[in-house]
Amino acid sequence: MKGRVAEIFESVQGEGLYFGEKQLFIRFFGCNLECVFCDTKLEQFTEYQPKDLFKRLDSYRGDYHSVAFTGGEPLMQKDFLRRILRFTSSQGQINYLETNGTLYRELEDVIKYVDIIAMDLKLPSSTLSWGCWKAHTKFLEIASKKDTFIKCVITQSTTAADIKRVAALIKEINQYPVVVLQPNSFEQSLQVKHKIKKFKKILENDGITCCAIPQLHKIWEVR
Ligand code: SF4
Repeated sequence: MKGRVAEIFESVQGEGLYFGEKQLFIRFFGCNLECVFCDTKLEQFTEYQPKDLFKRLDSYRGDYHSVAFTGGEPLMQKDFLRRILRFTSSQGQINYLETNGTLYRELEDVIKYVDIIAMDLKLPSSTLSWGCWKAHTKFLEIASKKDTFIKCVITQSTTAADIKRVAALIKEINQYPVVVLQPNSFEQSLQVKHKIKKFKKILENDGITCCAIPQLHKIWEVR
């Protein structure tokens, strides 16, 4: 079995509830979605046998909060991902999965080895792509067994109707993870700020805890 990995590097987490934590990042190649604001359009990768990747990971000796499995979409390579998660878990590491929150069958197969899930909820009015509501609902049902938070990217085109649908989805499965509203880093407009304020109120009125956190690694100028 071989896996396609775009890069491995140490950095600090720049998004979501664990921002500022030191992590070892493993960026998986390939994604099943096409978000308009995607800043990780990957073109190159290295193919690894699991044992070769284990060796490579062994060469990193930092004091990490966790190992971040990111992409692309790591769950696209579920079997390979599972091997790596199992390895890092056996080493006593915390596994942090960054995912677009759509591949729920694959999540089910690896969740045993995952500790924290940073789940994107792809709003069609933000991504300007197709909606994934059914898949997101099933994904969140499974993900809720672990420490999970949701992240929604807010752009100038994001609608209140999509945010209301987020609230409905959360209420439907009766699991209330924190929702992080993340302004699109390509648009630093007042309009986006106003939208975030309004969307926060919509979610809070439904009893959902939410906060606004920008992509801090871009502000800090780190990877
Ligand atoms: S899910 Fe993530 S990696 Fe995939 S296209 Fe969207 S932003 Fe890019």
